[in-house]
Amino acid sequence: MTVESLLSRLESVKQTGTGKWVARCPAHADKSPSLSITDTGTRTLIHCFAGCNAEAILTAAGLNWRDLYRDEWQAAKAAALAHLVKLPPVDPVALERRIIEIALSDLRAGKPLSIEDAARYELALERVKAAANG
Ligand SMILES: [Zn+2]
Repeated sequence: MTVESLLSRLESVKQTGTGKWVARCPAHADKSPSLSITDTGTRTLIHCFAGCNAEAILTAAGLNWRDLYRDEWQAAKAAALAHLVKLPPVDPVALERRIIEIALSDLRAGKPLSIEDAARYELALERVKAAANG
């Protein structure tokens, strides 16, 4: 989904620069625009200066995590990761293994990992190794 579709759901939208806007936050009674929206070209970053979390903002706008991504593949990956972090932490090592699997399936499919994903992948590797040693 494009940033324009998100902006069309918000009120008092004002462009502040290239790929940057402010708008009234839909997740709280916002009198002056305190929601910042940034379009990176592949995904949309949202931040409420009053402290609303991204999930609350998306829910109030009738959107979900996938809608922040322009590319379908990135959207699917974000949805998979968002689902994973919501699972109860019954077996933290299993979660780390799943993160490694997702990263590896990306790499096998020839999809480069984002910097964030690569860092998370490294962390998962360390945690699984630490669990095996401990
Ligand atoms: Zn807010």
